[in-house]
Amino acid sequence: MGICLFCKNTKNLFSSVEHIFPESLGNKEKILPKGVVCDKCNNETLSLLDSILVNFDPILFQRTIYGIKSKSGKIPTANFSTIDFKNSSGADIEVKLKRKNKGDFAQTINGCKLNFFGKKKMDSKNLKLISRSLYKIALELIYLDYGAVLALSPRFDEIRDIILGKKDFGGYLLLGSNSKSIEAGMSYRFIRTCEDDKEFAFFEFNYLFVKIMFDMERRRSILENGSMIANFYILKFSEINSIQ
Ligand SMILES: [Zn+2]
Repeated sequence: MGICLFCKNTKNLFSSVEHIFPESLGNKEKILPKGVVCDKCNNETLSLLDSILVNFDPILFQRTIYGIKSKSGKIPTANFSTIDFKNSSGADIEVKLKRKNKGDFAQTINGCKLNFFGKKKMDSKNLKLISRSLYKIALELIYLDYGAVLALSPRFDEIRDIILGKKDFGGYLLLGSNSKSIEAGMSYRFIRTCEDDKEFAFFEFNYLFVKIMFDMERRRSILENGSMIANFYILKFSEINSIQ
């Protein structure tokens, strides 16, 4: 009998495997077997969170440019406010400028320079959805690496409620670019601080040239929203009712 990693229900159906990273990001390896995540969580909240992540503007852009096929076998089109990107063949990228503005496209010695903005605002609502989709991957990786005893322990009960949308939360993401190599995956390390003598996991998610770092358990940053630290933007969000 299974116990669901997210809702802890034991009576629901457990008829499917769970892809830790969405299949549309190209994941065919990191999979939790049947019996870990119930069908209800898998088909409802988790599939919604997966779609939020794969359509997050910086990630969608990378999927189009690198020709990563979605679950249905298509390369997505990335439509932004000023420019659309299409990659039908997987080899040629079609760039469509939506307005006559010299600043949007310029040829340079090395190639070209494009100026465009994402469709969605990086407001608290969207940042929380992206964070939940990353926390979901993080908790599943902990299950994969350490098994049910740690992943189902009360330590992660709060994050389970946050992932399922039962609890509001504040937190932060560090958004930057992964300049080292084209790699995909998430790594993490457990850190213990003198300040609260508690162990917590700090995560680093890489997808092609996008890098997002986050702190799933403490979720607080002393730095101001919008400030930068070593080429990373601090994107902070708060609980609706908290004073910050
Ligand atoms: Zn469940």
